[in-house]
Amino acid sequence: MATTEMPVVNECAVDTCAYNREHVCHALAITVGDPQHAHCDTFFTSPRKGGSSAAAGHVGACKMSDCRYNADFECHATGISVGARHDTADCLTYSPR
Ligand code: SF4
Repeated sequence: MATTEMPVVNECAVDTCAYNREHVCHALAITVGDPQHAHCDTFFTSPRKGGSSAAAGHVGACKMSDCRYNADFECHATGISVGARHDTADCLTYSPR
């Protein structure tokens, strides 16, 4: 893929996350993946909301090299969804090759 645009987080169901407002992620760039599963590493809770209210979240980096959308530890999906799967906040677009 020639473009260097980061994939958008189309929807995030994890409304307990500090970056989430009404199922929209407002972190400028999330990181996905740990050795076990496609966990959103950016998820955390806080008494107040953060992120950029005017911007939607994007995938800044992803460590899931076995995902069909991953090349060189970068995500090349057009967009992803985040929600609960194995954990509170996981990439639901993850698809093993
Ligand atoms: S779709 Fe695949 S490559 Fe993209 S963030 Fe999710 S797990 Fe990573």
